[in-house]
Formats: sequence, C-alpha cells, structure tokens
Amino acid sequence: MDAPLNGPEPRYWEKIRTIADTLRELEGPIIVVSHVDPDGDAIGSSLGLTRALKTLDKKVTWIADPPRYLRFLVKEDEYHEPVDHVPEDATLVVLDSAEPSRVAGAPVEGFVINIDHHGTNPRFGYMAVVDPSKAATAQIVKDLIDALGVDWNPEIATPVLTGLITDTGNFRFANTTPEVLHTAAELVGHGVHLSELTDRLQWRPAGYFKAMGAALSTVAFHFGGLLVTAHMPSEVTVDDSDDFVGVIRYAEGSQIAVFLRERKEGAIKLSIRSRGGVSAQAVAVRLGGGGHVPAAGATLRGVTLEEAYQQVLAAVQEELKRVGYI
Ligand code: 5GP
Ligand code: MN
Repeated sequence: MDAPLNGPEPRYWEKIRTIADTLRELEGPIIVVSHVDPDGDAIGSSLGLTRALKTLDKKVTWIADPPRYLRFLVKEDEYHEPVDHVPEDATLVVLDSAEPSRVAGAPVEGFVINIDHHGTNPRFGYMAVVDPSKAATAQIVKDLIDALGVDWNPEIATPVLTGLITDTGNFRFANTTPEVLHTAAELVGHGVHLSELTDRLQWRPAGYFKAMGAALSTVAFHFGGLLVTAHMPSEVTVDDSDDFVGVIRYAEGSQIAVFLRERKEGAIKLSIRSRGGVSAQAVAVRLGGGGHVPAAGATLRGVTLEEAYQQVLAAVQEELKRVGYI
C-alpha cells in the first residue's frame, strides 16, 4: 500500500462545506455505514449523522450492528440489516472506515462519501474528507452537522460525544487536543450528561470480567519488556473484548502492546497500541493492516495463533530497530 498520509487535510473546511451542500440538496435515499466490529466512534459518528440528517427530512437508513455495550445509545428500530446492493439513486456515506474492505453493511459502490480520520485511508469514494489530525470521525461529523445547519439536541450530541470519548480514551490519549475539549464542552452544552454517559460506556456483562482474567493470564513480555502481548484463549467466548489491549498497554516500560484474538472465520485480529516514538501503525501496515500511529490493527488470515505470534514478534522487532530501541 501507499505510505500513510498522517497530516491534516489542507482543504478540510472546503470539503466539509461541499459535502454539507451535497447532502442538503440530495433527494434520493442516503445509506449510512461504518466499519466491521464497530467501536464507539463508528457507532457514534454514524448514528449522530443519521439523526442529524433525519431532522432535515432526508430518507436515511443507518445500517449497523451495534455491539452490546453501545446498544443503550440506539433505539429498537433505528438500525437496519446489511444490504448486498446500493440502489442507483442512493448515496452511501461511509464513516470511520480505514479502507473499503473494512466497510460493513453495504458494498462500497455508487455515489460514495468517505468521512474518516485514518492516515492509511486511501481516500476512496466520489467525495472524501479524511483528516488524520482529527481525534475521531465524530469530530468531523460535528463540523459537518454544524455546516448542515442542524439544530443540536441531546439525541444528536450524545452519540457524537461518544465517538470523541471512546477514540480519545476518555480524553486521555495524545489526540485529546484543545479542539476535542472545546467540542466536548459544546456537546455537553447541548444537553449530554457526561458522567452518566462515561459510566454507561464502561458497563460490561459478567462474562467479560472472566474473559479478561483468562486473557490476562496469557500476558507475556518480549524484547526486555518493550513489547507486551496477550491473547484471548480460543475456548473463551466474549461479546465485548474490545479494550483488553487498553489494559496491557500500561505495563511499565512497554513501548508497544499487541492483543491477539482468534475470530470465528479462522482469522486472527490484532489490536496494537504504542508510545514513545514507536509506531503501531507501521507494525500494522507491515502485517497488512492499518490505523493510526499510536493505535492500529490488522487481521491475519489462515495462520495459527503460534504463527501469528511469530509474525507479530518479527514486525515489532523491525519497528523497535527502526526507532533504535534494540
Ligand atoms: P482496534 O485495535 O481498536 O480494533 O483498532 C485500532 C485502530 O486500527 C482503529 O483505528 C482501526 O480502524 C484500525 N484497524 C483495526 N483493525 C484493522 C485492520 O484489520 N485493518 C486496518 N486497515 N485497520 C485496522
Ligand atoms: Mn475513529
């Protein structure tokens, strides 16, 4: 793949305005989708934009499969089943999806608008606003909703703020810019109850904590502790294994953390986090994935867990050498 473009989008506001004008003038149906295994930003940005477009009386269909821990944001009849075809007169809005193959719910075809913040996004689609300097796709959606002239209410502001909260790790990661905090303040001003929302976002079913115990029992350190790894043992099933990498990444002295998860389809999903000049993105790209510099991922297919570990160790070793840690 081409090298990631991690800088800000120089024509950001022009693109936001063009997309807002286009959406406002559309008469045909709009389908809103995001990425597979949707996280808080995928669900939050796509739900927020869907609700905003509905206030403009657009014919919007949100196709999503919200994970259990995000269901509380969503009404019963609000999300729809995947489609295998996009009607000719429809517009497909794709959010937070680093590449076309990561898009869930609809094929990437027809009039596609790509709204994202991943440097590795190949800027696909008929229109694209991809700005890796934005903490979350939800930040871009916030600007787009303003440009659409929609009146904010808690129903729209809550999912958008969710995207900001989850992609910044509760306003702790390096992407927590003044812009993020200003935007969050504005959204809270639109009626979101911040402490209730952050509390609710952390709720997990009982099985999650057992699974975390099983996963944490696999923790291993490599390269003198610079790399910490863990995996979900195959006999453990859990709906919400989203943030286990967020636990092991705090191993003292580690510069990079990788969590491995066996998927049903015989694939192994990697979640990668880094600090101190080490690029999780570079490791992910070497393994065929992508994402952001400090948080990235990849999916290895047709490999055993053992082979996946070997590939991870080799890719991380290369990165640690590049940065001069080893
Ligand atoms: P997570 O580890 O939370 O699933 O993902 C971290 C980041 O890496 C996200 O921004 C996500 O979009 C990206 N990412 C995760 N898995 C993949 C993958 O298989 N391919 C690509 N290109 N990006 C991924
Ligand atoms: Mn995101």
